Amino acid sequence: MMIRDTFKALVVEKKNNDLMATVKQLKVEDLPEEDVLIQVDYSTLNYKEGLGFANRNKIFRIFPIVPGLDLAGTVVESKSDDFTPGDQVILNGWGVGERYWGGYAQMARIKAEFLIPLPKGMDTKKAMAIGTAGYTAMLQVMTLEEAGITPGTGPIIVTGASGGVGSNAVAILSGLGYEVTALTRATEEFIHNYLKKIGATEITGGEKWTEMPAPLEPQKWAGGVDTVGSVVLARLLAQMKYGGCVAACGLAGGFDLPVTVMPFILRGVSLRGVDSVSCPIQRRISAWERLVTDISDEVLDSINTTIPLEDVPRYAGEILEGNITGHIVVDVNA
Ligand code: NDP
Repeated sequence: MMIRDTFKALVVEKKNNDLMATVKQLKVEDLPEEDVLIQVDYSTLNYKEGLGFANRNKIFRIFPIVPGLDLAGTVVESKSDDFTPGDQVILNGWGVGERYWGGYAQMARIKAEFLIPLPKGMDTKKAMAIGTAGYTAMLQVMTLEEAGITPGTGPIIVTGASGGVGSNAVAILSGLGYEVTALTRATEEFIHNYLKKIGATEITGGEKWTEMPAPLEPQKWAGGVDTVGSVVLARLLAQMKYGGCVAACGLAGGFDLPVTVMPFILRGVSLRGVDSVSCPIQRRISAWERLVTDISDEVLDSINTTIPLEDVPRYAGEILEGNITGHIVVDVNA
């Protein structure tokens, strides 16, 4: 495999307190010194990068930085015995794109311990069509399964359903035979049609989801996949059926949780946290292996929009405004 003399990268620099994002030509020597040099095929754009480009929540910890919290590509050089040139790999999380340079470049140097092999039966394009969003959704589904929630237990509600994690969760759960209700703020018919197309049987939303719930409400859901937090998560917990479980990963609606103990002590409801960033390697591999079969190419086509590196800053603004439906793949070679 040829190593390019120069390659394209989206570089974020900090001047005074402002961030500047520019697509630049870099040389391999410009990359930080790490074990494995990768020719990148695809990365993705997520809510977290939206926060980063907006200079919020201290997402970008070093400057200059090449953001991009995930990537899929091919190893071209390796100082690690675990990888050899030609191996196809996936990376997501571990602070890459935050504390380490990440996937928004045609080449990347990454610590070997952060990488997992691309599972058999998946190509790099499918890997990033799934991305960190789909992998996180899979971790949430696994968490519900571990809590004993099966398709026969009852309906599942997915919040932030039209977003990256939410869309993937709707699709995976429905593919596994769960009855899925999608909670969305969106009122547009095309978004409701989209959610039904990817597997939702019911759509819910409206003003009540922005109001504080009663400590306990009528029991509706066997399980919940939450990406929103705050009053939405509090309402979900208050509406769980006896023994139900919510797998929570996000804070798109806020990081607070105004809940009472009632769902836990009177209905045996459980709330389980899901983290994709520092998730142990074996659990990552299990999640990615399941994604070979548990989400179809057809549904991924409906969920994904592909953009070039140059468009990342603009779409990052849109994702933070909640204007993106589905998931964004970044084709670094477009
Ligand atoms: P997206 O922006 O793609 O999706 C978030 C969705 O949440 C939106 O599409 C919207 O859905 C809904 N939403 C947005 N803003 C609000 C709001 N103010 N109040 C209520 N709902 C809102 O983000 P991702 O899917 O990439 O990430 C979702 C969340 O999960 C983020 O908080 C992210 O940081 C977190 N996350 C956590 C991970 C972990 O490891 N713990 C990994 C990946 C993501 P709709 O319009 O349909 O209501």
